[in-house]
Amino acid sequence: MSTLSTDRLLAESAEAGRECGPCTVCCTVLAETELKKPMRCACEHVRSSGCGIYATRPRACSDFHCLWLRGALPAEEQFRPDQLGVLFDGYRPKGADKLRLVALEAWAGAFDAPTARDMIDGIAGDHELELSRRDGSWQTRGPACTASAVTEST
Ligand code: SF4
Ligand code: SF4
Repeated sequence: MSTLSTDRLLAESAEAGRECGPCTVCCTVLAETELKKPMRCACEHVRSSGCGIYATRPRACSDFHCLWLRGALPAEEQFRPDQLGVLFDGYRPKGADKLRLVALEAWAGAFDAPTARDMIDGIAGDHELELSRRDGSWQTRGPACTASAVTEST
């Protein structure tokens, strides 16, 4: 059964009481166009204390809220990306009717840890979910598809 709270899936703000704290996973796993930062490469501005250019960071950074921060995943900090090892995101691509759900691995092997695997299995039981591994490979999971690994082309 999915652990997703569907009413918070497309929320544009953080859920009350949730904060990024020491997490900076999105600063590595996501691409950032303005900074020309590719996926899975740490941003040149990320510091152990957080963003080194916090006040002037790109709009895409300040607007980003992963599914944990939005409140679509359970509140416990063990599910925050820096602890779980997985960043879950959900968005509606331009012109698409369907929501796209993705899980991005923060470090190699994180998908295989028991808590992360349970989360992925639960969500993929009800929804199509694209998994992005640290080695650059993608896999689609979900009720309507058999697992199929493809190599990232971009
Ligand atoms: S991955 Fe989520 S919790 Fe972590 S810094 Fe980014 S938005 Fe915050
Ligand atoms: S500019 Fe700051 S918030 Fe944006 S990716 Fe880099 S470290 Fe993260």
